[in-house]
Amino acid sequence: MVNDYKENNITLPLIALRGIWIFPHMVIHFDVGREKSVKALEEAMLNDSKILLSSQKDFKVEDPKIDDIYDMGTIAVIKQTLKLPNGSTRVLVEGVDRARITSLEEKDGYLLADAIEYTYEFEDIEVEDKTKAAIRLVLDDVKEYINYSPQIAQEVMLGLMDIEDPGRLADVIASYLQLKLSDHYVILEELNFYSRLEKLHMILGEEIELLKIEEKINRKVKKQLDKVQREYYLKEQLNVIKSELGESDLDDDVMEEYMKKIESKKLPKYAEEAARKELKRMGQMSPASPEINVSRTYLDYLLDLPWAKTTKDKIELKDSREILNRDHYGLKQVKERVLEYLAILKRTKSMSGPILCLVGPPGVGKTSIAKSIAESMQRKFVSMRLGGVRDEAEIRGHRKTYIAAMPGRIITLMTKAGTLNPVFLLDEIDKVSSDFRGDPASALLEVLDPEQNDEFTDHFLEVPFDLSKVMFVTTANSTSTIPPALLDRMEVIRVSGYTSEEKFEIAKRHLIPKNLKSHGLKEDEFEISQAALEQLIQNYTRESGVRELERMIARVVRKSVRRMVEEGVDRTKITVQNLSKYAGKARYRDDILEDNPMVGVVTGLAWTEVGGEILQIEVNTMPGTGKVQLTGQLGDIMKESAMAGFSYIRSNAEKLGITDKGFFKDKDIHIHIPEGAIPKDGPSAGISMTTAMVSALTGRKVMNSVAMTGEITLRGRVLPIGGVKEKLLAASRYNIKTVLLPETNKKDIDEIPEKVLKNMKLHYVNDINDVLDIALEPIENA
Ligand code: ADP
Repeated sequence: MVNDYKENNITLPLIALRGIWIFPHMVIHFDVGREKSVKALEEAMLNDSKILLSSQKDFKVEDPKIDDIYDMGTIAVIKQTLKLPNGSTRVLVEGVDRARITSLEEKDGYLLADAIEYTYEFEDIEVEDKTKAAIRLVLDDVKEYINYSPQIAQEVMLGLMDIEDPGRLADVIASYLQLKLSDHYVILEELNFYSRLEKLHMILGEEIELLKIEEKINRKVKKQLDKVQREYYLKEQLNVIKSELGESDLDDDVMEEYMKKIESKKLPKYAEEAARKELKRMGQMSPASPEINVSRTYLDYLLDLPWAKTTKDKIELKDSREILNRDHYGLKQVKERVLEYLAILKRTKSMSGPILCLVGPPGVGKTSIAKSIAESMQRKFVSMRLGGVRDEAEIRGHRKTYIAAMPGRIITLMTKAGTLNPVFLLDEIDKVSSDFRGDPASALLEVLDPEQNDEFTDHFLEVPFDLSKVMFVTTANSTSTIPPALLDRMEVIRVSGYTSEEKFEIAKRHLIPKNLKSHGLKEDEFEISQAALEQLIQNYTRESGVRELERMIARVVRKSVRRMVEEGVDRTKITVQNLSKYAGKARYRDDILEDNPMVGVVTGLAWTEVGGEILQIEVNTMPGTGKVQLTGQLGDIMKESAMAGFSYIRSNAEKLGITDKGFFKDKDIHIHIPEGAIPKDGPSAGISMTTAMVSALTGRKVMNSVAMTGEITLRGRVLPIGGVKEKLLAASRYNIKTVLLPETNKKDIDEIPEKVLKNMKLHYVNDINDVLDIALEPIENA
């Protein structure tokens, strides 16, 4: 057997596990309570969610040092975390690779380990015959083990037969067995696949012997049973087995406590039955069984769910308006639409109407509006980010038979809300994707469907839970990727980006006071000059919303607090002169668009999910064979649009002043849109690309303070485009003075803030000739 392990040196935060173990490929959950472990978890989450897990040799040691933990551990990825009511954190992790710990230090309150990571690609490994034989031997052992051990389902065997990688097979089997920690270590520590299987074979042999003894005792105890006392003796029987195996008893108090809880909570009948059934099952388990944890998690969720608790709704439009206004500057139309929505809700008194969907770039206040809605209705608020959710189980949970089963996030969040009728924000609903792990979008559809959601069934919980009283609110950056069936159920309210002036007001009225408060500063202890705040907006951030700005403000306030403490001063004043001391170096310059005309470079305006952006389009011509080449990760529609422009240029070459009559045969044209401008598709760069091509072919320079957007037809007509407001806001962020828009977009100008229009000149164009007249230098200069 050739073991091609690669070794990498790594440094990762470490959690010392107590009484449990984890192998690569294994998914488990456990609760983290110790402060060092919680800190290690936080540190890992800040980086790439990777953490090193190693078991303690003695679980009683509170503050383990390197000698107290096994030197071979497992690198795991954190999949999910959940704060529990008792203050600890439940984490779901998946083991990735083995790692040998070489040193351990304490850093910032957590354990940081240097280790050697062992990785390999199974495809590169040749499995030797003796290893193949060892696999058979071990699989036979497992078959026998399962016969004696009812805790492991027969189906497990089928799963094992499919595993070709011998190292992984040994790991998976070991993870199913209830072994002593030291036995697990033996398997974890062994890097050679053959030896690992051999050791597993020995351990399994011993375990099977024990199980045989266990069964013998079982039979003996059974004989002594009197029918009436059967229940009592069943427990005794378990105790006998446990003491034979040297194990302690499952805490009777725990069972008692659950029983009391079941009786005191007002569960619906079917839920109560499920709870009792689970408790009974749990009572029959061995205390060392990993299933105990599943059972406990199950009961905890079942008992903690708000089966009957609701808050009383209040919909007073006056109060709602007050709260929306108190928390948000501007957004007039959005607030009106929200109030209309609430008014209808008040009349119909039902949650079965359309679901509110707030659509706009990041940081424009969508989440914050949803929070205000909850507050004004006096409902609890919970939110779930759907960005990147691919696995249906994240929404609907895993079945209990799955090793690390947990309920889905809908149920966990309902527990967190503690009421049946919270406002439930489904954030980034446009970012849900699906793959082999199921179709989260269809699970969501069920959650949002008033015909079905009163009986929402989580795979883990198995009993229906009523979601019909929940007020769902969703957010998205764009409606284009929301599955149509979901979009049908929604009432879309668009929230657009802010002008610099609006950002200024938002910062002054909301972001700064909020941050002073959270950092424990009084209003008179901190001041920022108007010019400094303007710089923060213009030169430190360039976004549609105010998220980055809020982060910058938090940074400035944090630094101020620190300086005040360190230097013993009691006030901070931020000015343009000292701004960089608090905020760091400015990231953007005012003058990125130099106002000197160039050939073949045009500024386009684009709409993206994160707001408007400017797009630099560059065109070069060179001797060639008439090819038009496009680079910079452009979508198909954009390419077609460039070709349409090119056709127009070919058929109007003379009129456009192109002197090289054979340019379409003897020149190649290269259109490039540099990296960074996301996403580069859609027809709206048509006139910009055409203008850049004309400029490159004629040598006429493009005025650089001009930006444009519009689709082009083969005949050179200019067609309307979308996202006018976001595009103009972007132009104003970049200080662009002249903007060319399709004539047919004139109607969209009503919604553009005065302040934006004041500083720029708009030209409405019908035809590419209008564009060229304005954007290119006059012919006599060329
Ligand atoms: P989104 O959900 O759209 O990404 P958030 O609601 O998270 O944005 O907003 C980011 C931050 O900016 C929050 O602190 C929010 O309160 C604040 N904010 C956004 N828009 C406004 C506004 N119009 N007035 C006051 N604060 C705002």
